[in-house]
Amino acid sequence: MAILTIRIYGDEVLRKKTKYVKTFDKKLEKLVHDMFETMYEYHGIGLAAPQVGILRKIVVVDTLEPDEKYVLINPKIVWQSEERDVLKEGCLSIPGVEGEVFRPESIRVKAQTVTGEELELAASGLLARCIQHEMDHLNGILFIDHLRESERATLARALQELAVA
Ligand SMILES: [Zn+2]
Repeated sequence: MAILTIRIYGDEVLRKKTKYVKTFDKKLEKLVHDMFETMYEYHGIGLAAPQVGILRKIVVVDTLEPDEKYVLINPKIVWQSEERDVLKEGCLSIPGVEGEVFRPESIRVKAQTVTGEELELAASGLLARCIQHEMDHLNGILFIDHLRESERATLARALQELAVA
């Protein structure tokens, strides 16, 4: 068990694309375990591998609702609703910054478990939002990229301060 170092906005690793996980071994299990520990330590509800400096397609989420704890390896969105909703998001890699993001309300995701088995799940509401936010990290996308121009402008200074810290 270990608490991993969370990479903060301005760190280039957060803008890189990730590679598929091909080896499902003890090392992966340990990493996933440590990602959960790290997420709980910082009171997050989701964490993606690039946030701890690892460029692999690995996401952990736990909204703390029953049956909403998942490990998603190599996840892919196979369906998304046309209906969108908007909610204020934050990110462990962008501390102190929040902004309203529009996203599809419901999704279906295919992924693999930590042991490599196929998994398909339907998610809506907070869980769907959390999964989409974390999956964005796998492509170097951050929630601030989705903000309206006006909102991004008001956050510019806070982001600048994080990036040079
Ligand atoms: Zn995030």
